[in-house]
Amino acid sequence: MRCAAFLVTVALAIPSPALAQSPVPSARPVVVQGAMQIEVDALVHRLDRPAMETVGGWTFWRGTIDGYPVIVSKTLKGMTNAAAATVIAVERYHAIAIINQGTAGGHDPALHVYDIVLGTSSVNLGAFKSPARPAGAGSSTLDWSPIDLTAADGSAASGATPRHPATFKGDTSLLAAARSARQTYTKGKIVEGVIGSSDVWNDEVDRILKLHAVYGTEAEEMETASAAQIAAQLDVPLLGIRILSDNTLNGGAYDPKTSEACEDYVYHVVKAYIATLKR
Ligand code: SAH
Repeated sequence: MRCAAFLVTVALAIPSPALAQSPVPSARPVVVQGAMQIEVDALVHRLDRPAMETVGGWTFWRGTIDGYPVIVSKTLKGMTNAAAATVIAVERYHAIAIINQGTAGGHDPALHVYDIVLGTSSVNLGAFKSPARPAGAGSSTLDWSPIDLTAADGSAASGATPRHPATFKGDTSLLAAARSARQTYTKGKIVEGVIGSSDVWNDEVDRILKLHAVYGTEAEEMETASAAQIAAQLDVPLLGIRILSDNTLNGGAYDPKTSEACEDYVYHVVKAYIATLKR
């Protein structure tokens, strides 16, 4: 009853003709992605009247937060799964904006488990070209150079080695909402920086420090840059928000409970973002 009264009040208070004509629940949803079940559970519990749907192997929970449509999407792990889930979020569910959130490994010794990185950008750390080495000469990933798979055809073949892999900017409106919700997070610090993504879990300190030095990565995981690449192609704003679940640079052992802390913070980010959509 109270909720219905609130919705009526909101509808009456909104000056926008588009929103006044159509009830808010038919608006394009904010989609919040997480790769693993533990990275979506807490968010699903925060949805009002969640309804679960599956598309192939991907799961989506449709509900509302503060009367606005929100979909929680379990992307499954890795770059390929995240890309596919993002296409579905946009093409089938018409996402107005996407937050890709969850756990990550630290690329900066100053960051600790439970600290959160807001992705001012994300970078694909999965596409490299090795130098030629003869049989028996071994392999060193530190010598590999990046390939920007979003670059124009022929640029890699031309011999010009790109200095940077594919990079995607975090959306400024989502970032503003994340900044405005900072004070709700008390379990660690919140920093802004580059999130690196690939289908690799790096635990070699020299490699991590090189990635940090060359590409400025604060954290690594397996989804954000992939989702961001697809969102950019489909012109939908996206922000990566990642909590450190582990940091091999300072002995931070993997703590799966970090995923829930991230979800709690992201819930407040979603509320802040929705408030800007209703204005
Ligand atoms: N211990 C987990 C590991 C999952 S694989 C399990 O057994 O299920 C990695 C997943 O966690 C990916 O979805 C990735 O985004 C995230 N992740 C967390 N820390 C990571 C790290 N240090 N490197 C790469 N991915 C990491």
